[in-house]
Amino acid sequence: MARVALVTGGTRGIGGAISKALKAAGYKVAASYAGNDAAAEKFKAETGIPVHKWDVASFEACADGIKQVEAGLGPVEVLVNNAGITKDTAFHKMTSEQWSAVINTNLGSLFNMTRPLIEGMRARKFGRIINISSINGQKGQFGQVNYSAAKAGEIGFTKALALENAKTGITVNAICPGYINTEMVQAVPKDVIEKSILPQIPVTRLGEPEEIARAVVFLAADDAGFITGSTLSVNGGQYLA
Ligand code: NDP
Repeated sequence: MARVALVTGGTRGIGGAISKALKAAGYKVAASYAGNDAAAEKFKAETGIPVHKWDVASFEACADGIKQVEAGLGPVEVLVNNAGITKDTAFHKMTSEQWSAVINTNLGSLFNMTRPLIEGMRARKFGRIINISSINGQKGQFGQVNYSAAKAGEIGFTKALALENAKTGITVNAICPGYINTEMVQAVPKDVIEKSILPQIPVTRLGEPEEIARAVVFLAADDAGFITGSTLSVNGGQYLA
């Protein structure tokens, strides 16, 4: 029987590539998104993957959304916590709203999504939880105190939850992408990418969303059960952790 996978922020960017790769690998996939209905409907029409709109920063919305997904596909066995945002500014200019939005969306969502699912995974003795963190959670980044804190928090969450569930057939892992060619990075001016970013990347190019998706499919597999609590860097050699 095909396993059921749920990808948050799974309708575009890295999440869109993850949803498609899991479907191609034989999973029954559902994708969530925040509010970009046009992108979500286009994705659904192109892929046939069902899409669901809810805010991952809300615990109640996540619990309701998961119920909808499970009513359609069955119990979620693979959870990819991918949804994320940036609100960059120097810390001395950062507002409480910029801090809270990034912490609640990027890190709070891991609690909001995982807590409603973990008891079912424990009871069924199988689960794959894959958290899309960031190179900037490993090394810190200028202008991203909120984002770096949230992404580093995702790594701590991954390690602790992996330990708690190591005997239950559930693995919990983090992937730390470097610069990936999505709208989040395309918002950076082209000359900044060419002059400042590419010289930091030993493989001399941006990563592609499909290269993160490949790592997710690897960690989601039934025979990846000995990999838990790990942090997989996919960054073209930019930061060697
Ligand atoms: P995009 O901005 O391209 O896509 C983000 C996705 O997350 C969208 O589907 C969006 O929905 C969804 N989303 C955002 N906020 C919420 C919310 N509150 N509730 C539900 N869904 C939400 O991002 P990327 O594909 O670039 O990034 C994906 C993940 O990878 C993020 O966690 C990011 O931090 C991480 N990452 C990205 C890197 C990069 O270089 N791109 C590098 C390192 C890490 P909608 O379409 O409705 O807006």
